[in-house]
Amino acid sequence: VPSETMASRGAAAAAAERSAKPLRLDIQSLSKAFAGRTVVDDVTLSVAAGEVLCLLGPSGCGKSTTLRMIAGVETQDRGTIRLDGRVLSDGVTSVPPEGRSIGLMFQDFALFPHLSVTDNVAFGLKGRRAETHRRAHRLLERVGLAAHRDAFPHELSGGEQQRVALARAIAPKPRVMLMDEPFSGLDNRLRDGIRDDTLDVLREEGTAVLLVTHEPEEAMRMADEIALMRGGRIVQRGAPYNLYNSPHDKEAAAFFSDIN
Ligand code: ADP
Ligand code: MG
Repeated sequence: VPSETMASRGAAAAAAERSAKPLRLDIQSLSKAFAGRTVVDDVTLSVAAGEVLCLLGPSGCGKSTTLRMIAGVETQDRGTIRLDGRVLSDGVTSVPPEGRSIGLMFQDFALFPHLSVTDNVAFGLKGRRAETHRRAHRLLERVGLAAHRDAFPHELSGGEQQRVALARAIAPKPRVMLMDEPFSGLDNRLRDGIRDDTLDVLREEGTAVLLVTHEPEEAMRMADEIALMRGGRIVQRGAPYNLYNSPHDKEAAAFFSDIN
């Protein structure tokens, strides 16, 4: 057997394996302009179940706008968003945000101050109060806050509040979690633990995660894959190690060189 044939067989098998892997979130050629200025430019991305894709880039490059379109709170000018193969939005159809099975965590995604921790987590759940509270209590255990389930948000530290926000975000079992710099408000001491715990919980649930950050160090630590964004475009995509070692250009190299 010629070695060429063997090689192409291997490639075909690898391609088949890749296409067999379900692409939970699949974004094709997403674009958006504000007042004639393009801020998201032909962005194509995909995230599989249980994986973390980091959208990494400097402030103003279009990360949040991309997430907002995926969440359905901003309309796109062009492009298609699919969840498990089903079209969420393509310029013809658009599933409203609450029908998308997408969870959100933002830095300033405040808890309801007048609700207890348990009620905050149970807030979006349908069903009888006893049942929603039981689920909320299980989730609070999961994020290490069982002892605080009757507390109010102002009685908790920033890190604890962030854990409540995580429990609340995963409570309705979203298929996809969109996270927009959710850890940037936390002090360094707390941040590492919460980052790791958050990913543990999301991986266990098999949630596809799209995490936005402007910090290369955070992307290196958390991502299975990084999509490097600049001026509205994805300029490089790959495993963290590959981007770090073989940056696309000088600007990308400079960006990664800040990591110590
Ligand atoms: P990032 O999250 O990467 O910092 P954003 O997506 O928030 O970037 O913003 C990308 C660009 O789009 C910025 O120049 C921002 O000022 C602009 N922009 C974002 N939202 C709007 C809006 N609603 N109207 C006009 N310009 C906007
Ligand atoms: Mg932003």
